[in-house]
Amino acid sequence: MSGFDIPLPCGHFIAGRYVPGADAIEVISPSTGQRIGAIPRADAALVDAAVQAARAARASSNWGGIAPRERLKALHAWADLIEAEAETLAYLEAVCSSRPLAQAKVGDILVTAEQIRFFAEFADKEAGNLVPTADSAFGFIADEPYGVVGAITPWNFPINMAGWKLGPALAAGNAVVIKPSEMTPYTTLYLAELSVRAGIPAGLINVVLGDGPVTGTAITGHPQIDKVSFTGSTRAGAAIMENIARTGIKPMSLELGGKSPMVVFGDADLDLTAECLERGILPNAGQFCVAGSRILVEESIAEALSDRLKERFARHLPADTLAPEAGFSPIISAGQMGRIDSIVQAAVGQGAEILCGGGAFEREGSYYQPTLIAGVTQDNPAVTEEIFGPVATFQTFNGEDEAMTLAAHPTYGLAAGLFTKDVSRALRLSRRLEAGTVWVNRYGRSRDHILPTGGWKASGLGKDLGREAYLANRRTKSVLIDL
Ligand code: NAD
Repeated sequence: MSGFDIPLPCGHFIAGRYVPGADAIEVISPSTGQRIGAIPRADAALVDAAVQAARAARASSNWGGIAPRERLKALHAWADLIEAEAETLAYLEAVCSSRPLAQAKVGDILVTAEQIRFFAEFADKEAGNLVPTADSAFGFIADEPYGVVGAITPWNFPINMAGWKLGPALAAGNAVVIKPSEMTPYTTLYLAELSVRAGIPAGLINVVLGDGPVTGTAITGHPQIDKVSFTGSTRAGAAIMENIARTGIKPMSLELGGKSPMVVFGDADLDLTAECLERGILPNAGQFCVAGSRILVEESIAEALSDRLKERFARHLPADTLAPEAGFSPIISAGQMGRIDSIVQAAVGQGAEILCGGGAFEREGSYYQPTLIAGVTQDNPAVTEEIFGPVATFQTFNGEDEAMTLAAHPTYGLAAGLFTKDVSRALRLSRRLEAGTVWVNRYGRSRDHILPTGGWKASGLGKDLGREAYLANRRTKSVLIDL
């Protein structure tokens, strides 16, 4: 394809080189609906070639055994190069994903470099332990990398999700075979290319392109992939668990879907809360795992808050992701647009009232209006289903017990927001909420990567970010020697 400001990387990336393959999957711009290019689909033989390249690179570079400080330095050099190439990476992200160019550089690319630096610092600061034993034997806990980590990532924040996987896996001494989403392949390829240019041994990061059923299944079922790290839907997470159970047990971490509540009490600061709720559902057009898609409001302030939200929701206007000014994000695909709209229509069919939005913007590409839905019961599909779009339900409650009953989702437990000026209530309820993350009087992660992120219940197993993510990329061995 021509006509792009920056050439798009093409082919898989194995042992430090691009490996072309026959066009198999079209890559489409969500902003225009136009074809951008096509990528090949890695079959089991190609995934095996990537795994062998990863094993060979670990062995020849002694990546897991070198002085940890050498890994730390290599990862910092990679982060330097990511920062230097931030414009190119931002373009490659915006060209095919829902991330606006005007936000991607600072919000995605530079954050990914920071994540890599964060994990680099663990490399020489975590170690095994000597253990006192009862019988004067010499005991210690050896702390070792797994070997080859298989990573699979979604389309919604492509480079950040790659950073979540690659940073801790490499810092901990592993090699990686990674499969980005077939819809957003380019930044992961370029990240891998930059790692080699930064001096990280070729073959430590291998990128295989393709879809879930063929390429993803070949990764999760490969006997020489020692651990799987996945981010994506609960549906795919369940399929991965099944495949791992069928093909041989291996550890896995799964970051999955959510249906997170934002619970607002009558004493909350209304303006601050309205701003947080808007930021809790509309960035990236609601296409983020921790989206606060269920707004629960104490009856006494419901009308005042819904008025503020309607006004704020109406301000978001769509823009092409490559436009110089940031605008409201497109929905990643026509299929996903159809799914969002079918849930909204089903909600209305079951008696829901649309407070604002409720349909597509009239323009090219896939853009859905910020939508607020009231009059729903707990069994309404807009309340039960992860919509993954700019759609929030608006329900009311009286008192803490009713709030907690409504907030509990039967399957998901990813994140939750609490808005109140009462510190005792915030502490009490933050313990009652069934979620891997609770935010109080804010909604969204901090930028420092210290706090681990991950779901309870069907929202996942294990954590990304934080020290936990580093430790999840190493395993311990107890050694006991009779003296
Ligand atoms: P998806 O599950 O359709 O795809 C995610 C990745 O898995 C893609 O690379 C896809 O090709 C691959 N895949 C699909 N089926 C597979 C299979 N059977 N075996 C192996 N790989 C398979 O998800 P998506 O639509 O790309 O992303 C949106 C989903 O991701 C949402 O549910 C969202 O909540 C979730 N998500 C979760 C987090 C988190 O931290 N919990 C973060 C971002 C996204």
